[in-house]
Amino acid sequence: MGLLSQGSPLSWEETRRHAEHVRKHGILQFLHIYRALRDRHKDVLKWGDEVEYMLVKFDHENKKVRLVLCGEEVLQTLQDKGEKVNPNHPTLWRPEYGSYMIEGTPGQPYGGTMSEFNTVQDNMRKRRQEAASVLKENEAVCTVTSFPSTLTRNIRHRRGEKVVINVPIFKDKNTPSPFIETFPNDDGEAAKAAKPDYIYMDAMGFGMGNCCLQVTFQACSISEARYLYDQLATICPIVMALSAASPFYRGYVSDIDCRWGVISASVDDRTREERGLEPLKNNHYRISKSRYDSIDSYLSECGEKYNDIDLTIDKDIYEHLIKEGIDHLLAQHIAHLFIRDPLTLFEEKIHLDDANESDHFENIQSTNWQTMRFKPPPPNSDIGWRVEFRPMEVQLTDFENSAYVVFVVLLTRVILSYKLDFLIPLSKVDENMKMAQKRDAVRQGMFYFRKDICKAGNAVVDGCGSAQNGTGTDTEEYTLMSIDTIINGKEGVFPGLIPILNSYLENMEVDVDTRCTILNYLKLIKKRASGELMTVARWMREFIAQHPDYKQDSVITDEMNYSLIWKCNQIAQGQAECPELLGVGFNKKQSGNKTGSL
Ligand code: GLU
Ligand code: MG
Repeated sequence: MGLLSQGSPLSWEETRRHAEHVRKHGILQFLHIYRALRDRHKDVLKWGDEVEYMLVKFDHENKKVRLVLCGEEVLQTLQDKGEKVNPNHPTLWRPEYGSYMIEGTPGQPYGGTMSEFNTVQDNMRKRRQEAASVLKENEAVCTVTSFPSTLTRNIRHRRGEKVVINVPIFKDKNTPSPFIETFPNDDGEAAKAAKPDYIYMDAMGFGMGNCCLQVTFQACSISEARYLYDQLATICPIVMALSAASPFYRGYVSDIDCRWGVISASVDDRTREERGLEPLKNNHYRISKSRYDSIDSYLSECGEKYNDIDLTIDKDIYEHLIKEGIDHLLAQHIAHLFIRDPLTLFEEKIHLDDANESDHFENIQSTNWQTMRFKPPPPNSDIGWRVEFRPMEVQLTDFENSAYVVFVVLLTRVILSYKLDFLIPLSKVDENMKMAQKRDAVRQGMFYFRKDICKAGNAVVDGCGSAQNGTGTDTEEYTLMSIDTIINGKEGVFPGLIPILNSYLENMEVDVDTRCTILNYLKLIKKRASGELMTVARWMREFIAQHPDYKQDSVITDEMNYSLIWKCNQIAQGQAECPELLGVGFNKKQSGNKTGSL
C-alpha cells in the first residue's frame, strides 16, 4: 500500500502545513526522473505479484476466530529469517494497513520466459508456508476486518467528520424490512449517517483492512507503459468481477460481491466543500471521486479521444509541467493526482534532495489508490517504467491467485503482440466498475466492451473483427456483453479473451509442463466466467446459506464466521477439496524447466 515508512509521523495540522511543500517538491522529483529516464527503452518484461494476508487465530473450544494484531512481530521474524540473511531469498515481506495484515511478494521479479509462469504458484506456496511457520499455535494466514492508525486519523481530520460507508444489505427471507441498525454507544453520528437497508461502517479499517492481489509489470519504455495502462484500465472491472471474494461486512451478508466501493468510501478524505455539499470557501476544487477509485484519464495518444470524464487538475502544476516539456496527457494525469494533500508525513522526511529522492512524489502518488497505477522508475535504480494492475480480490488458494496473475500477465503479452485495442470511453469503464461489484455480476452483469478489438489491418487472431459485420444499426464501437462473452467469446459477436490467449500460446514455444500449468489456470478463469465454477463470493454466500445456524436473516454469527474461515483455511492448505470453486483435477502444482521467451 506504500507509505508505511518508519519515523515520527506528524499530526494532520502539521502535515497540512507542509502540503504545498510536498506537492512542489514532488513535482520537481517527478521532473528529475522524467528528464533522466524518458528515453529509457528496451527494458525487458519483469513482473511481480503482491498478495495481502491476514493473520487469524482459531479458538476451537469456543468456536471463534479473531484477527491477531501481530503483523509487526511476524514481519520482523520473516525478514530476519529471509531477506536480511540472504539477498536472494525467494520471498519478501512488507507491512500492510492493519496490524493483522502482512504482504508478501516474490524475492526477485519474474522475467520474460514462459517457464516462469510455472514457478508462480510454488513461490506463493512458499510464502504461505513461511508465514505459517512463524505463527503460534492455532494461528493461520487468511482473511478480513479493521484497525485504526495515523493514516486513519488524518483522513478523518482532513475530511472534518468520520467516513461513512453504507453497503446494501442482502435481503434474505427473514431479513427485517426495512433493515435498521441501532448503535448503543452512538454519539448521534451513526444514527445520522446510517441508511435503512444498509450495513453501516465508520472507519478506514473497514475498507483498507481488506486484502487484494496486485500485479506490477515493467514495460520496455514509457510509451509501452502508457499504452498498457490504458488497455488494462478497461479490463479492471471485468477481472474484478471474476475475482469477486468479499460479500460479508461487519457480520452481515451484503448485496455486493467486491470490496472496491467499501475501500473507496473508507478513505474518502474529501471535505463537504470538495464533495459539493457546501459552497467552496476553504478548498480549491470540487472533486468527483475518492482517492481510492477508478482512473480518471487515459495516458496514451490513442486513449485521448475516450477521455470523457471531468478531470479536476491543479492548474499551476499542469502549466509547470507543460512548460517543462511534458505532453498534455501526462501533465494532466500528474496534475490530477496532485490535487490531493499528503496524508502522512514523517518529520525526518521533509527536506529532501529532489534530484536523488522521490519520497514526496511517491507520497502523493501512492495515496492515489486507483485501479491502475503508472509508476515512474525510482531514482538511481535499474528499474524501468512500470504499471500496476490493482483491482483484483485475493483468492483463497495459491492456485487461484496464480491463475489470475498469470492470466493478466499473459493478457499484456497478447495486447502487445497482437496490438489489441480495448479502449472505450472512460465513463463506460466507470459504469462497468459499478456493475462489477454487484452480487453475482459474473453471471448476471452486462459490461460495455469494445466490439472490434483488433486494430485496422491486424487479422492475426481468428474471429477478430467479425463483430463489425454484426447485426443492427448500432454504430458505436462498444456494446454490452456478459463476462462469459468477453472471456470465452461468442460466435459472430466477440472472439473472447481466452481463445485469443490460447491462439497466442499455440504459437509459443513452451515446455509441456508449463503449458499444462497455464492451460489449467486459463481453464479456471474460463469456468469462472461461464459460471460453471463459483467465484469465492458466491461460494461463501452458499456456505453461509447452508450453515445450520443461519436464520436467513443476513446475520453471520461468530460461530458461522469460525466455520467459514476454518473451511477457507483448510481449502487453502489443500486439506479440504472444493470442486465447485476450483474444479476437479486441474489444480495440481507442477514444476518446470526453462524454455520459450515471452
Ligand atoms: N488492500 C488494498 C486493496 O484491497 C490495497 C492496498 C495497497 O495498495 O497495497 O485494494
Ligand atoms: Mg498492499
